Amino acid sequence: MPSNAEEALKFLKDNKIEWVDLQFTDLPGRLQHVTIPASDFDENSFKEGFGKLDGSSIRGFTMIYESDMILQPIPQTMSIIPWMNGVARVLTKVYWGGGKGRFERDPRFIAEEAERTQEEQGYTSFFGPELEFFIFDRVDLDVALPQSGTGYKIYARESPWHDNGGFMIRYKEGYYPAPPIDQLMDIRVEAVDTLTKYFGFIIEATHHEVATAGQGEIDFRFSTLADTADKVQTLKYVLKNVAAKHNMVATFMPKPMYGDNGTGMHTHFSLWTKDTKKNLMYDPNDEYAEISQTGRYAIGGILTHARALSAIVSPTVNSYRRLVPGFEAPVYTAWSKSNRSAIIRVPSYYRGMEKAKRIEYRAPDPSTNPYLAFSAILMAALDGVNKKIDPGDPVDENIYHLTPDKRKELGIRELPRSLDEALDELESDNEFLKPVFNSSMLNVYVDLKRDEAKTLQMYPHPMELYYYMDS
Ligand code: GLU
Ligand code: MG
Ligand code: MG
Repeated sequence: MPSNAEEALKFLKDNKIEWVDLQFTDLPGRLQHVTIPASDFDENSFKEGFGKLDGSSIRGFTMIYESDMILQPIPQTMSIIPWMNGVARVLTKVYWGGGKGRFERDPRFIAEEAERTQEEQGYTSFFGPELEFFIFDRVDLDVALPQSGTGYKIYARESPWHDNGGFMIRYKEGYYPAPPIDQLMDIRVEAVDTLTKYFGFIIEATHHEVATAGQGEIDFRFSTLADTADKVQTLKYVLKNVAAKHNMVATFMPKPMYGDNGTGMHTHFSLWTKDTKKNLMYDPNDEYAEISQTGRYAIGGILTHARALSAIVSPTVNSYRRLVPGFEAPVYTAWSKSNRSAIIRVPSYYRGMEKAKRIEYRAPDPSTNPYLAFSAILMAALDGVNKKIDPGDPVDENIYHLTPDKRKELGIRELPRSLDEALDELESDNEFLKPVFNSSMLNVYVDLKRDEAKTLQMYPHPMELYYYMDS
């Protein structure tokens, strides 16, 4: 992949590219695009950008009367789209039209602001998300009209009623028997191969996940904040397109199926000195988990703000169906070495390895906007470090089994149980975000999410008929 504007221009020529897809992310986190002729690109394109965006129809962007916007390509993100001929894509930064500067609600702008803020304070940070997902044959929705009902049916290759040669995954045993029980290896491998060959990824692993039908995971090498968020968007884009090529559908929604594991985006995080010479999370003399005092303060910051962070890292109505006991998703604001019921884990299998020392924050799910999620995690961690917020002792017992009194004694709180509750928290606890999240962005974000919660709240769920028909 190109490393600067000059190389990007050469890349277009060398690969005989005729069309370029300009891509960016809306405020809720969905990838958007507009396609332009490659012949429009010249030396100035990467400085001046293209006036190709009417922001008025993009969620969280602009009002109708101020809609002309500019997309400025980021040369390092240019890659060919291998499932098309002569087409490349490039991620872009969004600007106001008319020379009015950077658009303050472009999620990537927030990520760049977060990087700038940490550098000013002498830090850099690394992020490594574990992307989980489901791949289904088909999902039949029956929600198009309010009058027509609220049901859906999921068809998955691995479900018992599918013609799958009689191989079935037993309940909660999807992690991870070899094919032919795992029937999705072909799609996952095609996706990681595409990401590696064309999109500059270093893949660490891909595997089936615990759920009974269709769940998988892809893990890629950690990187800096904005770059990792770019990669999350790219991974989702590639997997969805690879699945679509096979007439299947990949989804990153947090909880598509009742009673089975949901989809998380556990995020590994480490704070380093700005010159990236020293991992500040590491202390070889710490007996518990080789985690430094700075690392503990970072944990303290995330735990303190965990309930407000939920509105950003678990940002959909559906997220709160995942955050319940019994499915390896966190519910409580505690930290631990190995406890999967805690919101933060300190992986300790890399003893003696400074480079690998990090924390794993388990609340995020991939319905989040990764630019906002990583920025918010960083700001919470830095708040903890700057204010020396102690996270208290780690909790190694199964927190689900502690009595409410015991939890109270240990200072363990529950995560919000709904999007609305999380938004209430974000509205009352957002000072720590302010250096990076401008108030225009925060206000529009909360409005959009309130609206989403309200809309979904108005739909009677099929289970409500089951419960209340006899009223
Ligand atoms: N799928 C689980 C979640 O919702 C995580 C399983 C795992 O530990 O990888 O967070
Ligand atoms: Mg997993
Ligand atoms: Mg994990």
